[in-house]
Amino acid sequence: MKIICVGRNYTEHITELDNERPEAPVLFLKPDTAVLSRRQPFYIPDFTKDLHYEVEVLVKINRVGKHIEEKFAHKYYDEIGLGIDFTARDVQQKMKEKGLPWEKAKAFDNSAIIGEFISKDKFSSMEDIPFRLQKNDEVVQESNTSHMLWKIDELISYISQYFTLKTGDVIFTGTPAGVAAVTEGDKLEGFIADKSMFTVDIR
Ligand code: MG
Repeated sequence: MKIICVGRNYTEHITELDNERPEAPVLFLKPDTAVLSRRQPFYIPDFTKDLHYEVEVLVKINRVGKHIEEKFAHKYYDEIGLGIDFTARDVQQKMKEKGLPWEKAKAFDNSAIIGEFISKDKFSSMEDIPFRLQKNDEVVQESNTSHMLWKIDELISYISQYFTLKTGDVIFTGTPAGVAAVTEGDKLEGFIADKSMFTVDIR
């Protein structure tokens, strides 16, 4: 199982980090060791002083595909989820300045929270899914998949030009604005519409 992450897919998040709007989706990978086991707390790693949450809609791939056409992309997933792409922002900033890969900032152990998945049939459109992240019961990120620069089917098509998608792979579709640091004792909870999809305690 692999995790394919999309960067810079929401305009307001691009602006808040002072990034350039990309001409094509920005992609990076997390290994399977990045998945935090269910119901385990997240321990802030020693190598960062600025550990950020990024709430993201997830897509679980249900069959093998390569060079998937956008019009067929909907056949490659049945379920949508929600998760967090934990990011050591200070480490990432140093890598970005030097033009180096981001893995140490993004792909470290337990950096991927993968919550529950729900059938996509529950939604009338993949382009109108409201979601939010609460920190200590206060909303800190809130958006809708309608604001994505590249929609889910476009992402599947684009990603599959480079990486064969396999059953069980998970796509992190990018975060909206509102990313910020966590501290010990925080509790994060993610929602799609009013359904709680995950909770995680920060230690
Ligand atoms: Mg992200």
